[in-house]
Amino acid sequence: MPVLAINGGEKIRSKLFPAYSVIGKEEEEEVIKVIKSGVLSRFLGAWHEDFYGGPQVRALEEEWAGYFGVKHAIAVNSATSGLYCAVGAAGIGPGDEVVVSPYTMSASATAPLVYNAIPVFADIEEDYFCLNPESIERKITERTKAIIAVDLFGQPYDAAAKNALARKHNLLVIEDTAQAPGAKYKGKYAGTLGDMGVFSLNYHKHIHCGEGGIVATDYDELADKIRLIRNHAEAVVEKKGFDSLVNMVGFNYRMTEIEAAIARQQLKKLDGLLKKRLENVDFLTAELSKIPALEPVKTRSGAKHAFYVHPVKYRSLDTGVSRNRFVDAVKAELMPTELREAEGVNIGSGYVRPLYLQPLFQRQTAYGNNGCPFKCRNYEGSVDYSKADCPVCEDMHYNTLLTHELMRPPISKEDLNDVVNAFKKVWENINELE
Ligand SMILES: *Cc1c(COP(=O)(O)O)cnc(C)c1O
Repeated sequence: MPVLAINGGEKIRSKLFPAYSVIGKEEEEEVIKVIKSGVLSRFLGAWHEDFYGGPQVRALEEEWAGYFGVKHAIAVNSATSGLYCAVGAAGIGPGDEVVVSPYTMSASATAPLVYNAIPVFADIEEDYFCLNPESIERKITERTKAIIAVDLFGQPYDAAAKNALARKHNLLVIEDTAQAPGAKYKGKYAGTLGDMGVFSLNYHKHIHCGEGGIVATDYDELADKIRLIRNHAEAVVEKKGFDSLVNMVGFNYRMTEIEAAIARQQLKKLDGLLKKRLENVDFLTAELSKIPALEPVKTRSGAKHAFYVHPVKYRSLDTGVSRNRFVDAVKAELMPTELREAEGVNIGSGYVRPLYLQPLFQRQTAYGNNGCPFKCRNYEGSVDYSKADCPVCEDMHYNTLLTHELMRPPISKEDLNDVVNAFKKVWENINELE
């Protein structure tokens, strides 16, 4: 009978998993061309042809819009900046509320704060982990202006239900699709399901250029505002003849030519990289489903999932072994990933801690030391982040969900077998954990 590694037995795997790597010769060649051209950026923060950036940035925007079937794609230097642009373009300001998810990367919930608006957390769906439409509806007030819907883990948000809800209450939908490039819902690409969609090109994502982001929208006016916020709006509006000054304090969220050149090559690889990732997930889903305690995530009806991470639900059944203990035992059987050794084995108990538990929300301190915007005079509502009322999110995070990244290219079949065998070994010897 094998002894579990957590109890001093031999590990299933003794070598590191291969580093996540999607950059190749094509990117290298294009970067060298850009450097040789001498134009590393071409943005001008004034009303001028170069207000829209250099040739690589513009080509990337055109190609991105073409691929995803959206009228405007606007390159920015991160998805975080993209979310800030989107909230600004939506005209959101002090006193407004925006419904957000507690289970996401922090920027998708803090974006409203940049405009002194209040993030209000709704609960997530038990099966798909995106915002739950019923919970959203309970959080809507006369102050609500938008919903930030995250395509979490690569699963497209429930656009049919949420867009209808948004129309009913006259809200904009900002889609955070950082984790779901290439995912689809009813034939439409994630990132084009809401009024604005925000993609990420940071180095953890399906395709990347180091750091970068794209905001997609079909609306000319929103696109105009996003481009202004990206590039020093206040210095440009007058000469551009842009009358509405709402949120027209600009930033520098501009993407460089080098990043754009890399991103253009990456976009060409998205289909192939996604296909490989989905094949890996299919294999893991089939194998892990054989373990009674595990339930790999379902894909929403009508949707194509992109699997930024692979979420799996753990049920202790009658073993009495908690999710955390189970995950620790599986991790003990495996090894970290190259270039990210310090993070340990890439399997997590849950995902990120529910965001309302961050000190920023618990202490209601964002700008200055008077509790702005939460206690700002413009804000006529009240939020209590100590009673966030998100039981599903808390159960997923603390008891039920595990997420892992051991399906990202260029992981091999042999590597995947080690992952499966680690889970199987722990399950077959679970009595050792009691
Ligand atoms: C990665 C990520 C972001 C932020 O992306 P950056 O490009 O790093 O700013 C935002 N939202 C979600 C859901 C993410 O996964």
